[in-house]
Amino acid sequence: MFEKQLGALRKKKRPVDVDKEVDVEAMIGAAIGFPRESLTEEEIEAGVVATLGGEEQANYVIVRNHILARWRDNVNAWLSEQRVMESIRSQHKSLVSAAYTFLLSYGYINFGVAPAMRAAIPAEATRCSVVIVGAGLAGLAAARQLRAFGHKVVVVEGRHRPGGRVYTKRMEGGGQVAAADLGGSVVTGMHGNPLGVIARQLGLPLHKIRDKCPLYQPGGAPVNEDADLKVEGQFNKLLDLASKWREEMDKVSDSIALGTTLEHLRHQGDVARDPQERQLFDWHLANLEYANAGLLSNLSLAYWDQDDPYEMGGDHCFVPGGNVRLVAALAEDVPVFYGKTVHTIRYGSSGVQVLTADQIFEADMALCTVPLGVLKKRSVTFEPELPPRKYEAVDRLGFGLLNKVAMLFPVAFWGSELDTFGQLTDTPARRGEFFLFYSYAAVSGGPLLIALVAGEAAINFERMPPLEAIQRVLGVLRGIYQPRGVVVPDPIQTVCTRWGSDPLCFGSYSNVAVGASGEDYDILAESVGGRLFFAGEATTRRYPATMHGAFLSGLREAGNIAAQAAARGSPAQVPRKDIQSYATVLSDIFREPDVDFGNFAVVYDPSSQDPSSCALLRVVIGNKTKARPGDSTEQPKPQPPPLHLYTMITRQQALELREVRGGDKKRLLYLCSRVGVKLVGRRGLGSRGDAIIAALKWSRSTKDPAAAQVQVLGDALVSCD
Ligand SMILES: Cc1cc2nc3c(=O)[nH]c(=O)nc-3n(C[C@H](O)[C@H](O)[C@H](O)COP(=O)(O)OP(=O)(O)OC[C@H]3O[C@@H](n4cnc5c(N)ncnc54)[C@H](O)[C@@H]3O)c2cc1C
Repeated sequence: MFEKQLGALRKKKRPVDVDKEVDVEAMIGAAIGFPRESLTEEEIEAGVVATLGGEEQANYVIVRNHILARWRDNVNAWLSEQRVMESIRSQHKSLVSAAYTFLLSYGYINFGVAPAMRAAIPAEATRCSVVIVGAGLAGLAAARQLRAFGHKVVVVEGRHRPGGRVYTKRMEGGGQVAAADLGGSVVTGMHGNPLGVIARQLGLPLHKIRDKCPLYQPGGAPVNEDADLKVEGQFNKLLDLASKWREEMDKVSDSIALGTTLEHLRHQGDVARDPQERQLFDWHLANLEYANAGLLSNLSLAYWDQDDPYEMGGDHCFVPGGNVRLVAALAEDVPVFYGKTVHTIRYGSSGVQVLTADQIFEADMALCTVPLGVLKKRSVTFEPELPPRKYEAVDRLGFGLLNKVAMLFPVAFWGSELDTFGQLTDTPARRGEFFLFYSYAAVSGGPLLIALVAGEAAINFERMPPLEAIQRVLGVLRGIYQPRGVVVPDPIQTVCTRWGSDPLCFGSYSNVAVGASGEDYDILAESVGGRLFFAGEATTRRYPATMHGAFLSGLREAGNIAAQAAARGSPAQVPRKDIQSYATVLSDIFREPDVDFGNFAVVYDPSSQDPSSCALLRVVIGNKTKARPGDSTEQPKPQPPPLHLYTMITRQQALELREVRGGDKKRLLYLCSRVGVKLVGRRGLGSRGDAIIAALKWSRSTKDPAAAQVQVLGDALVSCD
């Protein structure tokens, strides 16, 4: 009996099985956003291993992937460190604590709404207080997580409901009822998507959106399939060409719009000259404007798709009954003050104050999750003012528009075999008007159809009287269906959205406009003074403009707030540098390095000219150097942003390193084997690093009055006293 029970444990895994298991777990880790064989920048920041790049790191990656895979296998159970220890090979046990703590702190495991996660919330909050502005997915995710960490939390929300840009409206009449998602709707990429985890915890069966999407001409006649395929192929080719162009143009492409480039390439390639092909081509442009909630004429050619490498794999799905089911579960037990629009956020060394018309909320820290549109309008005043760098990024990034018309009909006259269909327009300026229809008949509880309005049409739609909008959309539907003998009845109820006029968002979602880059999302995420934090879809470089991006940003900031609070609460510990502030300072310092060669840059300690004095070295690992024209005939794959690693050397060593021949690889080898230093993340630089950074910041700020002002304004940067 005893033997039998232990049998399973005793059975040794053969090496091939172990390799397979490691591989499968690496795939699961990759789907969640962790590189298969290396660390994320977040992990490097957190100092999960003592030495980068060696055996310890390789083993850590195996352990981290194992923990992720174990929790994803059963997202309803709390995975304890003890349980992980039981299933890990003995040679990896020493790494469990670092991996487990990291994954738990930043919300990669044990998050969500399952009873086991709720049970882990301490009955009494003993850690410092946080006021969260906004009860969208970012705010709710952060609130739940901070409560689980033992923080006192309140959420202040301008609307009278949670969810923000995720809003499911109950539509009803004539015996029909349906749940219409007027904002965020499609849960994209189920393999890694954390909202898929919440759905699993709630036992919600998701509906996979089927690929088939027939298109109809302006009069309603079906588009010929061959023509459809041909133009789709041409369109994709032009996108590939545009990518090659930007590689060739390098920095110049930063100031060029994707739309201008595509139009130029279309002319040059003599593509879509025929009127119907032109309409088809315009339909694809509208689809791109929908994906980016922005006019192609404003989207950055260089960076519009910078988040592509992080796209979540797997099916795109609807949540039956609407996303309100996710929101309601996330909002349960979270103390939200509804109907309170925040006009001012004050922050300083003693804490924060969040001001509404009739109430002031005081706390140790604040998390601001208001949409980019609200920041752009300066509807919230920050005292002291945010660093100029933050507002510059706010202004650079784009915040575009997508609108919807939701229609509840007496019957689903469009049938049950389709989830989407589209229509072409004969006027390019109106190419986004009702260009795509989503059927929610299978998931909303009733015969619900939603028409999308993207691009320029979405802007004009904000001013269109609802009756006119409904007449137009019904005209489109009747054009398609009536020639086929299908009667299109009047809808029972319709709703037109106006996301652009909504004073609590002023638009739909963010995009990378001309002049902006992925770095601007990082800047938006930067916290200020260790008291004021930022989350929301426009603060995530990897997953912007999505529901899961917003959710993940909330978990991220909960981790950052908890770490900051822990450092502050423990006098024995040197307060942990605010990660983003540190990033800001370093990136400013390296804008003007003293020496720059290949992917290396060096700044010297300004207080000494001695060859043996300190120098700070940065190595960019990844795609800093763009491919040269002609390097490859293949379409370049989107690359993740480069990784920045640092070390301290002397001036003399920096000059010697510059003279090493044979390129960056040889220099790296020289650095590690001859100079004998370790490359670390920005938080691993230690007190010598801090001292040189402080000295540099001070010497440069005294030269640059603007920088000096930033320093005085809001202890926004690393303290140099
Ligand atoms: C029409 C539309 C379609 C979309 N489709 C999809 C999709 O299919 N798939 C997908 O993944 N994503 C989609 N998105 C994007 C997704 O909905 C958002 O990225 C995500 O919901 C943003 O969450 P958030 O928490 O960052 O912001 P929000 O949800 O906007 O939350 C911010 C909260 O702050 C509140 N607030 C603002 N100002 C103040 C103030 N001054 N005082 C107090 N409270 C304030 C707001 O009311 C809001 O509740 C869509 C969005 C829209 C608009």
